[in-house]
Amino acid sequence: VTSLSKAPRHAGGVVVITGPEGIVEEDAFVCQHCSRMITRPGGVSMDEVSGGCGVCGKIICLPCVNVGTCTPFEKRLERMEARGRFLRSAGLGG
Ligand SMILES: [Zn+2]
Ligand SMILES: [Zn+2]
Repeated sequence: VTSLSKAPRHAGGVVVITGPEGIVEEDAFVCQHCSRMITRPGGVSMDEVSGGCGVCGKIICLPCVNVGTCTPFEKRLERMEARGRFLRSAGLGG
């Protein structure tokens, strides 16, 4: 059974969920801010489960839309690394 197959229209895939009503296919994609998996059941519009970031233009989840700022996951990691480097160079960190 293939649980993930690439869909060409966005950087996500399709998840196949086996439930009481049989096999259901849902669009699946990853929030580009918090890297949370978002699924879109058939018949539900993209706007109901996700939004677009006005800064980076990526597809993000509704909680990230509500935050209202562009804080991509990778940027957060970069900042943490930069902070670690700064503390080390200042002789303060591990
Ligand atoms: Zn998110
Ligand atoms: Zn963004």
